[in-house]
Amino acid sequence: MKTVSSLLDPQWYERYKKISRLNIRSSIYDVTDRCNLRCKGCFFFSSGEHERAAEEKDIDKWHDFVEKEMDRGVNLAILIGGEPTLCMDRIEAFYKRLPTFCATNGLIKVPRDRFPDMMVGLSLWGDAEDEIALRGQDTFKITSANYGGDPHAYYLYTITPKQLGKTGKIIQKVQDIGLKVHMQLLSNDEDVNGFSWKPEELLDIRQEMDAMLDAYPNTVVSSKYYHEVITTGKMLGRTFGWSECPSVTILRDNRDPQPKRLTNFIRYASDLKTVHRCCTSETRDCSTCKDGAAHMSWVMVNKRAHIKTTKDLQNWIEVYEMFAKLYQFIPW
Ligand code: SF4
Ligand code: SF4
Repeated sequence: MKTVSSLLDPQWYERYKKISRLNIRSSIYDVTDRCNLRCKGCFFFSSGEHERAAEEKDIDKWHDFVEKEMDRGVNLAILIGGEPTLCMDRIEAFYKRLPTFCATNGLIKVPRDRFPDMMVGLSLWGDAEDEIALRGQDTFKITSANYGGDPHAYYLYTITPKQLGKTGKIIQKVQDIGLKVHMQLLSNDEDVNGFSWKPEELLDIRQEMDAMLDAYPNTVVSSKYYHEVITTGKMLGRTFGWSECPSVTILRDNRDPQPKRLTNFIRYASDLKTVHRCCTSETRDCSTCKDGAAHMSWVMVNKRAHIKTTKDLQNWIEVYEMFAKLYQFIPW
């Protein structure tokens, strides 16, 4: 039987040991239903998830809720929205108790005296032209001024088909202000003209993402296997989609047979009671889902399937390390 230690040399085995100790148990929380932007293609608004629940306004209830989530075993809180920074006191309810990650458009700066080491993921949807087309403004101008040089912030760069050939310019800009960048692909939930992926574009963007990782190894947080999985929707001959997705809320997961999935994962709405189907859009067709975190998690929960060849296991380790870096469980 193949074992981890028989497949890895001592160096890789050390890397494996570091991540195998982590036991990350994440869940996702909508901090608010409001946002100070309205991006075309935002899964939250396009799927009507902002109308599913009424925000809990009593801050004491947020504190009690987080305590209960910790009792449930959650050790990573991923805060999304709407725009979480519109409600700093709710962010604080999590941050005081748990490793907390905040996904934000970055227009409002998280006060570092209040949240000194909270990891912040800054959404970025392309160059100024694309950002203006999809989001109404060039957010990089503002976010780079707010977060330049911040060791606990990175860009979550959502690549669209229109970014082909342009990613280098953007990654250079990110490097110039001393931040890191993680790439994912747009799922065009609102069918904005020209922003849906064609098969040949996915081949090209995979090559471009690989080239970016080679050219900017200290700035791009990624792995080539992740690029392969996210652009092909395939892993070890299996196809990503509803029957394989690991990021489905446990309370809504009626799949039979059950695939490998994130332990006790739940995505809560901002009333702290309602749950959403998964980590992304309620109404998205799973066969077109390009969600980066769901694909990463898909690899991560399928460790056993990667204990086949040295290369497969190394691929798995690299994806796990990438996730652990992005959520600050191991250093960059
Ligand atoms: S900033 Fe984020 S939450 Fe707000 S509309 Fe854009 S994608 Fe949606
Ligand atoms: S939309 Fe994506 S993340 Fe949600 S269940 Fe489907 S495949 Fe998973």
